[in-house]
Amino acid sequence: EMASGSNFIRTIISDDLASGRRKTIITRFPPEPNGYLHIGHAKSICLNFGLAQEFGGHCHLRFDDTNPSKEETEYVEAIKEDVQWLGFDWGKHLYYASDTFDQLYLWAIELIKQGKAYVDSQSAEDMRVNRGTLTEPGVASPYRDRSVTENLDLFDRMKRGEFPDGSHVLRAKIDMASPNINLRDPAMYRILHAHHHRSGDNWCVYPMYDYAHGQGDSIEGVTHSICTLEFEDHRPLYDWFLRELNIFAPQQIEFARLNLSYTVMSKRKLLQLVKENHVSGWDDPRMPTLVGMRRRGYPPAAIRTFCERIGVGRAASWIDLSVLEDCVREQLNETAPRRQVVLDPLKIVISNYPKGQTEELEAANHPQNPQAGTRLLPFCNEIYIERADFMEDPPKKFFRLGPGREVRLRNAYIIRCDEVIRDEQGEVIELRCSADLDTLGKNPADGRKVKGIIHWVSARHAKPVEIRQYDRLFQLENPDKADNFLVALNPESFQVTEGLAEPGLLNEEMGATFQFERVGYFTIDSKDSLPGQPVFNRTVTLRDTWEK
Ligand code: ATP
Ligand code: MG
Ligand code: MG
Repeated sequence: EMASGSNFIRTIISDDLASGRRKTIITRFPPEPNGYLHIGHAKSICLNFGLAQEFGGHCHLRFDDTNPSKEETEYVEAIKEDVQWLGFDWGKHLYYASDTFDQLYLWAIELIKQGKAYVDSQSAEDMRVNRGTLTEPGVASPYRDRSVTENLDLFDRMKRGEFPDGSHVLRAKIDMASPNINLRDPAMYRILHAHHHRSGDNWCVYPMYDYAHGQGDSIEGVTHSICTLEFEDHRPLYDWFLRELNIFAPQQIEFARLNLSYTVMSKRKLLQLVKENHVSGWDDPRMPTLVGMRRRGYPPAAIRTFCERIGVGRAASWIDLSVLEDCVREQLNETAPRRQVVLDPLKIVISNYPKGQTEELEAANHPQNPQAGTRLLPFCNEIYIERADFMEDPPKKFFRLGPGREVRLRNAYIIRCDEVIRDEQGEVIELRCSADLDTLGKNPADGRKVKGIIHWVSARHAKPVEIRQYDRLFQLENPDKADNFLVALNPESFQVTEGLAEPGLLNEEMGATFQFERVGYFTIDSKDSLPGQPVFNRTVTLRDTWEK
């Protein structure tokens, strides 16, 4: 399904607005600030912000920061930057789950007073065992029937810090025999003597996700709380709290998460890749993180197109990484200025071109877009072409250079190969060519056809630049299926080479992306480049060259 067409969530929302069930719509994107955002989060961001835009509502950015031990301010800032980079704006609608701690606490007391919550003092192990299994009902805790007074007193003392971590929890009193294990008296609060990145040391009891999330949605007036399918079985609990507290009830809607081939998306695994130096950091250009993709040169518009193209449904599905790469290619094909860079040089001396002369040839920055303007390319009697653009004994369909054959130099003349020079080992080290000097910007006067066009750089003017060629980080389609996902790492995912670039490329901006004609798309690395000394990341190849 395409987002420009219909998806089931869009249908629910437009029905709710049409029937008057909702007057306006509010969605939210609720990341936990315990890591950097990845391409899976992008799907959720595009969906939530996209729906709000489409239906004239709002999308909130909410930091789901109820777990003090894993969260850091560094991640909060990075997440904000990533959402903005993707092209979305939460305006004044920025929230933190931790700002609801007071209200959540008051509501917990209300549930205790109603006899709907109790303090359990079983060990964690007993609690786990007594929760039962899919086939066995749970066993009630011996503390389940504590009086309201005793529960209020214990919960108050939990909050005051009288008890060590793990000694008590507050549980909702629902149904120990429910076929849905989430309803077997789920924990609402646990004791954690931990410093929180925002609330500091104010609290030593922290709400569980299932207790905090729906109430947070309710406080913010979220109408449609869109989450991934793993939470489907939590929906009865989500609804239970809202009903028992008798507060505004958002509707939870689940969709299938994005699974991308050759990629892992669990934050735990991404963190492991960083910590164990399998990559250079969260922003390594091979990472599926938004910071990584940005550094690699993926345009945000390409990621948005990707999220539209894959659609939103309820059936678990795998998307091939090539779908994302195609979106990047399509976008860059339209926007990236063209440049000439030779990666594996073979020297050519043009015998009939005056030695010592330099000519500035005008070259279009984009063949389909005259508004992109032109640049000047220096040309002289010595140039480099790609070694692969010459063959000594070429087959008929090889439209590049061979002995006695002609080829057009992109933005320059047609040349013919007159002589092949070898070293002592017999390897070709140079070609002697002659140029048809009457072919600049026009076809040969005698009507002969020259099919091939190759790129080149002036040997006297070209500048060496560092080229980082990236490939897929994993060589297995589903790295998560391996016993240890690290064995699926692609040992050839990173390779540094040198290229010879047209001189103007030395003075371009950090983060700028180009098509090196006939080679691929490359972006100036924003971290490791120096003024006048760019490092180029290969963003994507011109074609899908991955071999399964
Ligand atoms: P992890 O389990 O790796 O920690 P998470 O899903 O818990 O990841 P959150 O920060 O809680 O990460 O996610 C924020 C939002 O992004 C959630 O609403 C979640 O549903 C959504 N999201 C995360 N991963 C994906 C994915 N692969 N596809 C679609 N949405 C996703
Ligand atoms: Mg998580
Ligand atoms: Mg989560």
